[in-house]
Amino acid sequence: MKTWHTTAIVLCCLAVSVTTVSAANAWGGSPAPFTGPQGFADDSSHSHRTIESTASDRNNWQWRFDGAGGEDNYEPTDLSFWKTTSNSSWVDVKWYVTTQSNSHLSAGVAGTVYCAVWASSTTCDSFRLLIADDADEMSSLLQNNLVCHELGHTVGFADGGTLQHSCMDGGDNNMLRPYERGKINARY
Ligand SMILES: [Zn+2]
Repeated sequence: MKTWHTTAIVLCCLAVSVTTVSAANAWGGSPAPFTGPQGFADDSSHSHRTIESTASDRNNWQWRFDGAGGEDNYEPTDLSFWKTTSNSSWVDVKWYVTTQSNSHLSAGVAGTVYCAVWASSTTCDSFRLLIADDADEMSSLLQNNLVCHELGHTVGFADGGTLQHSCMDGGDNNMLRPYERGKINARY
C-alpha cells in the first residue's frame, strides 16, 4: 500500500534535493533554483493543456492547473500563464495522468516533468507533465502542491534550494514564495 500522504513521496526527486539543499538558508536560495535538467521555458507565454482522455482525471486536476496549483501561483509573475485547447506543438505544458508503471515515474513518485521538444540546449519548447493515477489519494492540498511543484519544473526550477516551505522544496503548502516569483520575473 502506498503511503501517499507523506510529503516525502509527493515530489519528484525529493531524495536528491534533500542532500542538495541541506546547507541552504531558508531565504538564501542557495543553490540557485534554475538548475533543473528539464531546462527553462522558451518564453514568458506559458500555455498549458491537458492531453488526458479520462474525464474524471481531467476533472480532478484541471481546476488545479487553472487555479489553486497553477494560475494562483504563476500568474502573479511576469509569466503569461494560460490554458489552451490547442494541441499544437508550441503548447508549453501538456499534462496527463498515467500509471505508476510509466517509465518516467519511479516508485513512489507522484509526478514528474520532462522536455519532449527542446527549443535550444537550455530551453524547452514543449514539456510533458505526468501525474501518477494514485496521486488522487493524496489530500486536495497536496494535489495542488504537486501541480505547483511540477509546473515549477516547467519554468526551470530544480528541486529544492529555493525557499524552504515552498512547493519546490519539502513544503506542502501549495505556494510559491516571493523568492521564487522574483527568480521567475528575473528570468522571464
Ligand atoms: Zn521535483
